[in-house]
Amino acid sequence: MIKQSLLAALLLCAATPALAADETPAVDPARLKADVEKLVSFGTRHTLSSATDPKRGIGAARNWGAAEFERISKACGGCLTVSRISDRFEGPRAPAGVIVENVLAIQKGTGDPAHVVIIAGHIDSRVTDPMNFTADAPGANDDGSGTALVIEAARLLSKRNHRATIVYALLSGEEQGLWGGKLLARHAQSEGWQVAALLNNDIVGGTHGTDGTIVDNRVRVFSEGIRASEDLAAQLARRGIGGEDDGPSRALARAALRAATRNPAIGLEVLAVRRPDRFRRGGDHLPSLELGYPAIRFTVGVEDYDHQHQDLRTEGGRQYGDTVDEMDFPYLARVTALNVALARELADAPPAPASVAIDGAVSSDTSISWTPVRDAASYRLYWRRADRSDWTDSRTVPGDSTQFLLKGVQIDDHFFGVAAVSAEGAESIVAFGGLPPQK
Ligand SMILES: [Zn+2]
Repeated sequence: MIKQSLLAALLLCAATPALAADETPAVDPARLKADVEKLVSFGTRHTLSSATDPKRGIGAARNWGAAEFERISKACGGCLTVSRISDRFEGPRAPAGVIVENVLAIQKGTGDPAHVVIIAGHIDSRVTDPMNFTADAPGANDDGSGTALVIEAARLLSKRNHRATIVYALLSGEEQGLWGGKLLARHAQSEGWQVAALLNNDIVGGTHGTDGTIVDNRVRVFSEGIRASEDLAAQLARRGIGGEDDGPSRALARAALRAATRNPAIGLEVLAVRRPDRFRRGGDHLPSLELGYPAIRFTVGVEDYDHQHQDLRTEGGRQYGDTVDEMDFPYLARVTALNVALARELADAPPAPASVAIDGAVSSDTSISWTPVRDAASYRLYWRRADRSDWTDSRTVPGDSTQFLLKGVQIDDHFFGVAAVSAEGAESIVAFGGLPPQK
C-alpha cells in the first residue's frame, strides 16, 4: 500500500512539467471586460484621430496600452520592455499621410531570444465611413477584443520565463491599410527576429451572428497554404510534391487545432479555414505572410455585421454599432486561453527544423531526414495519408537523431513532417517534408 502511494507520488512528480504546460490558462472575463470598456472610453481610436489629446483619440488609447504593459512588467520584476515603433504612411484612407505607431511589450526569451512568438491585435477603430475620425467609434469587438486579449496574454505569460521571446503587439492603422501589420513585419525583419508564429487576433469577442445564429464554442483560424513569400520556382517545387496544404502558416493553424484538443477545458473547437483570411477581406497578419513568417488570424465563429464598422444609430428599430453590450466576455476568455496555451507551447519549444527531406521513391519504406535543432530533446515525426488534411500518425525519436526509416509507409501515399520537441514536451510547428530549404 505504502509502496503504491509512493509510486503514485513519484509518477505525479514526473508528470508535473507536462501538467504545467497543459494547465488551462486562468483568464479572467471581468478583466477583459474592464479593458474593453476602458478602450471604448477613448471615444474614437481612429488612426487619424488625435495622437496628443490626453482623453480622446488613438494617442490616449496607445498611452493607456503602454501603461498597462508597464504595470504588468512591474509585477514580473521588469520582465517586459515596452517600446513604440512608428512610421509615416499615406494612402487613399490617409491622403495627407499619418504617423502610425505600434506599442510593443517584449518578454525576452531566456533560452533563445532571437526566436520570437508574436501575439497581436489592432487598437484602432472605425465607423461606417473609414475617413470619419471624429464620430464615436467604440470598436469594442473590432478590435478592442483583440487588444484586451493581447494585454491579458501578457499578464498570464509573463508569470514565468520562456525559451523564446514573446512580443505583445498593439497595432494601429489596420482600418486604413494594414499599416500597423506592415510596420510590425518590417520591424521583425530589420531586427532579425526568427518569427516562429504571429497570432493575429481581430474580432474575437462575439458569439451572435447577424441572423441570430449563436456560436460560442468555436473560433475560426485562417491560414495560407501556398506561400505569398515564395517565388515561382519555389511554388512549382511545392506543386510538384503536393505541398499546397502545408505552408508554415497552415502548420501553425494545425498547432492551434492541437492546442485546442490538448486543452479540452478551454471548451473551444478550432475551425481551421484553409484560406489566408475571410473571403476578399484582410488583416494584420497578411504583411507578415508576405515576408515569409508563419501567421494566422483568429476571429469569431460567426460575425455580426450590424455591429462592425457601423455608425452608432438606431434604424427601423434596429441598433447598429460596435458596442460592449453586444460582446460575450466568457467567449473572449476562451479565445484568450487558447492563444495563451498555443503561444506558451511555441515559446517553450525549440524552433522547427529548417528543412526536412524525404526519400523512398520505388520503395516500400520512407526515409526522413532533417536539419538538427539546437536544444531539441527529441523529434516527433508526423505522417498522414495523402488524402487527409490533418496528421494522423506520429512517433518520437531521440534528440541526437537526424534521420529515420519508416518501414512499410509508402512515400507516394503519404505526407510527412517533423517537429522539434523540448525536454518538457513542448512542440514546435511541423516542418513539411520534401521541399528544399527556403532561400
Ligand atoms: Zn479589425
